[in-house]
Amino acid sequence: MDLFAMPDFDDHERVVFARDPAVGLRAIVAIHSTVRGPAAGGCRMWAYRSTGDAVTDVLRLSRGMSYKNALAGLPFGGGKAVIIADPRTAKGPELFAAYGRFIESLGGSYITAEDVGTTLSDMECVSRTTTYVSGLDRKRGVAGGDPAPKTALGVFLGIEAAARFRLGRSDLEGLKVAVQGVGGVGYHLCKLLAAEGAHLRVADVRADAVDRVRDEFNATAVRAEAIVAADADVFAPCALGAILNSQSICSLRAPIVAGAANNQLAVDSDGAALLGKAVLYAPDYVINAGGIISVAREYAGGSTEAQVTSEISEIPARLIEIFERSRREKRPTNAIADDMARELIGRGDRRLVDATAA
Ligand code: NAD
Repeated sequence: MDLFAMPDFDDHERVVFARDPAVGLRAIVAIHSTVRGPAAGGCRMWAYRSTGDAVTDVLRLSRGMSYKNALAGLPFGGGKAVIIADPRTAKGPELFAAYGRFIESLGGSYITAEDVGTTLSDMECVSRTTTYVSGLDRKRGVAGGDPAPKTALGVFLGIEAAARFRLGRSDLEGLKVAVQGVGGVGYHLCKLLAAEGAHLRVADVRADAVDRVRDEFNATAVRAEAIVAADADVFAPCALGAILNSQSICSLRAPIVAGAANNQLAVDSDGAALLGKAVLYAPDYVINAGGIISVAREYAGGSTEAQVTSEISEIPARLIEIFERSRREKRPTNAIADDMARELIGRGDRRLVDATAA
């Protein structure tokens, strides 16, 4: 594999591989940019089919974090980590201690936190061997903790903004929202939407996750394969990436896509396909920034939960600016957001330029 030639490499500052056979750790940290500060982004634990798949995922996620942190106005760059293992069977304190030592060895150029497959208690384990970790248990009222409810709040406010912009709706009463993936973020999103009278269609590959939202929020269960094409006003992807591609976009019925998943577009041009179908797409790294806002403020210290909530409530205004520019310039929302992020990062101002493989 020629890492430097991969399209997703995109001028990353560093890509570092680590293994610890004694505990079965195989991990990769990708640091896209430290121009705005240390790279911050979560750690995904996933049973990737190949190392190549893991590399592609970590590179795409890490670039997304640079853009997300820049547009959220955070003094952090973008990075991400993956642990190549099945989170259902491979977790253990020794594994996370070894992962923490790996993060510590990077000297603070990357700060880790939760992502798909890792939880607050996993990060507590990681914190035994590194200080470069956030998303930890904290006192009530202090910024931080599990980022998933914060991400859900930002997505909920983003859905309100998108429904106002695209459908002229001033409330969510009776709005049909199809939520794909009702795990950490999806569950909390359903809770917020149900409280405002939205009608939920939900799908998950885990039956227990579906049962919970069906019982608690009167949601209608939809088969996992059918959720993209569900009759809905909003499609909210809250599972994994690349859900919007040439095939799925053809079957999409909702006029709005607004959800938490990272890297929702399989390729950038899928944003143009959505625009061509008059679907309003809320760029993923703009609408799902609530969690990293919380993680970043926890790491920096000195912020309250109320301050984090207030920062998250700025997400809708950012989205509306992107929606309006997209309408004016007749360009896809993802392209507008990418331009804005790149401008903020200001390319060519890199402190590190090497990619190391250990
Ligand atoms: P999670 O692992 O808790 O939940 C994801 C859910 O999606 C699980 O219940 C899983 O069973 C389900 N799922 C997987 N494949 C599916 C499929 N094909 N169809 C339907 N359901 C499927 O993860 P999470 O923390 O809720 O994150 C969800 C998404 O949001 C991810 O893409 C993540 O990167 C992104 N995100 C999360 C946060 C956060 O704060 N947790 C922040 C920003 C972005």
